[in-house]
Amino acid sequence: MIVHHAWGTQTGPSDEFRRWRGSKSRATMHRMESRCLKRIQNLIFPPLCVFCSTPCPGNCCCNRCSAILPWNTPACPRCATPLTAAVEGDGDCAACRAQPPVFTAALSPLKYEFPVDMAIKSMKFRRNLYYLPVFSELVLPALQTHLQDADGLVPVPLHRWRQALRGFNQALELARLISQRSGLPIAKNVLRVRATKTQSGLTADERKQNLRNAFEVAGGLAFRRPVIVDDVMTTGETCNQLARTLLSAGAERVYVLTIARAEHADLMPAGEP
Ligand SMILES: [Zn+2]
Ligand SMILES: [Zn+2]
Repeated sequence: MIVHHAWGTQTGPSDEFRRWRGSKSRATMHRMESRCLKRIQNLIFPPLCVFCSTPCPGNCCCNRCSAILPWNTPACPRCATPLTAAVEGDGDCAACRAQPPVFTAALSPLKYEFPVDMAIKSMKFRRNLYYLPVFSELVLPALQTHLQDADGLVPVPLHRWRQALRGFNQALELARLISQRSGLPIAKNVLRVRATKTQSGLTADERKQNLRNAFEVAGGLAFRRPVIVDDVMTTGETCNQLARTLLSAGAERVYVLTIARAEHADLMPAGEP
């Protein structure tokens, strides 16, 4: 390649540049090029807030939207169900005290309310995956603050037929982004071996029956303290059944991390109507 400069003509990259490039591995060069391209792209097309479309360089959820998102506080420390301020500090919710879940703790930083519910449905059913990086940013602090001894991620698996129909598994895509930022590995050998009916519209007993033997760990589980990752937790039964499978496969304790927690009548804390 011949490069014409005001001060003369140069053939190919300079020796100095070659020496500098030689000291970098191919992967490092690729990362630096990607970062550089991303910066140029951000200058030409600044990222927009996924909720209100105003330009917001950085995490793509502007400060104004972040301030009014339905944050899930206070919440039950065991199952993440939203609690009223009156029962904050009383520990686990009434449902957990009556029948504790199999998992040790669940974290859902947001409530499944507008605009989070709309964004999750849009992501899941209309493949608007641009919400995923924002959601991964929103859940990451909960993982880093409260689940410091976690050693791996287990995205809730979809049955292969459902995954083929949808084209992707939102839990796996979310786990990939969390893994990139946290360094936690993802389990590849946790499978949904039974095609189950959707949980909505089923009674508590039917949900349990529906999920019985639904999951399987092929070979051994590589983690002692895995974190189940999913988009929404409703009754917690899916996570409970998966946690049971992980404990049988050798986990010492199991955590749950989801973007949002739906309020469910069966899980209302004591004193709630
Ligand atoms: Zn916004
Ligand atoms: Zn609870």
